[in-house]
Amino acid sequence: MLTNYSRRTFLETIGLSMGASILLPASTLPDRARADRKLNVALCGLGRYANVLKRGFAESRHCRLAGIVTGTPAKAAQWQQEFKLPAQNVYTYETFDQLRNNPDIDLIYITLPNGLHKDYTIRAAQAGKHVIVEKPMAFTVPDCRAMIDACRKAGVQLAVGYRLHYEPHHIELKRLGQQKVFGPVRLIEASLGYQLAGTPPDDWHLKKAIAGGGALMNLGVYCIQSARYVLGEEPISVTAQYSPVTMPQLFREVEENITWQLTFPSGAVNTSATTANCNIDRFYASADNGFFELSPALSYGPFQGRSSQGPFNFPVVNQQAALLDDVASHILAHKPLPAHIAGEEGLKDMRVIEGIYRAADSGNKITLPPL
Ligand code: NDP
Repeated sequence: MLTNYSRRTFLETIGLSMGASILLPASTLPDRARADRKLNVALCGLGRYANVLKRGFAESRHCRLAGIVTGTPAKAAQWQQEFKLPAQNVYTYETFDQLRNNPDIDLIYITLPNGLHKDYTIRAAQAGKHVIVEKPMAFTVPDCRAMIDACRKAGVQLAVGYRLHYEPHHIELKRLGQQKVFGPVRLIEASLGYQLAGTPPDDWHLKKAIAGGGALMNLGVYCIQSARYVLGEEPISVTAQYSPVTMPQLFREVEENITWQLTFPSGAVNTSATTANCNIDRFYASADNGFFELSPALSYGPFQGRSSQGPFNFPVVNQQAALLDDVASHILAHKPLPAHIAGEEGLKDMRVIEGIYRAADSGNKITLPPL
């Protein structure tokens, strides 16, 4: 935990959060060591996404990978060596709760399978650590609320790893939509899918108890998010349909494909599909006076943008590093995290995910409950 902040550190960290090189030139910093204070992060669950995050840590200015939690001794040895981690910062799931006694760790980044997000977020909060949890935040709205409440009670901050908020094309989508640059947006199509025929049958993504669901839990959250943040509105009702299963040997417990339609208070409509049987990665918004689109749109990029006025493209950024740095600069400055990555944002997506499943299961149009 970060405690006993001096006024000097406060001024430095305010500078960090707003761009230290502009607000606090290096020559004015009284103590370079403190100005370079980084947030010490323990990564929990060393799988595929944890490996993607390695580059994020390498490019991060304000975060340091300072510890790990893993159930695999070989990974513990390899990561410990690669990141020069002291032995006391290497944990297993059995020793996880002992993190409360380790002042070297400020934040735990949870990259475990979906079904473990809730439990480990709550235990991280109870250990007095800030948390970043991967998407989907949990399985249900009440689970999300329990995670938010646990973090609030413990006085720590909770973020969801919503990396696309740091990607310049998506920042532009938000501007075009929310500022009605082409007039009010009437229709959004957003779809994300991968051909996952090669998935091993024992992969946890295929098991309902630990994945919570299929394509919607895994990928659909990005479609929901993009519609919500481009419109700047919360949906009020949903219809949804499962499509035929083409890989019954894999998709026995969770959905392979699902499509849905959301309506928003302005009358705007979002239609989306997410699937494990084909590759698709696109976003399209139709407004009164034009359109804007990205394709690719929702994966790691690089993205290509186009509007009715022509192409728009921005430099590639490391989305993971940018997210880590934004979280760190807010926490180091003792400021609340931005709303777009706070736990409440994960809850808002979960409200929609629950509604989509209820609509697809029942065949009915579902009115989403108030937030
Ligand atoms: P992996 O299966 O590759 O990694 C998960 C890791 O969790 C495992 O390697 C293992 O690490 C640990 N683990 C602990 N208990 C279990 C268990 N019962 N079954 C399987 N693994 C276990 O998953 P991903 O890295 O692809 O996904 C992890 C999370 O990250 C998911 O919630 C996913 O949705 C999210 N994600 C987010 C992305 C994004 O762009 N934001 C992209 C990809 C995934 P160890 O051996 O160290 O114990």
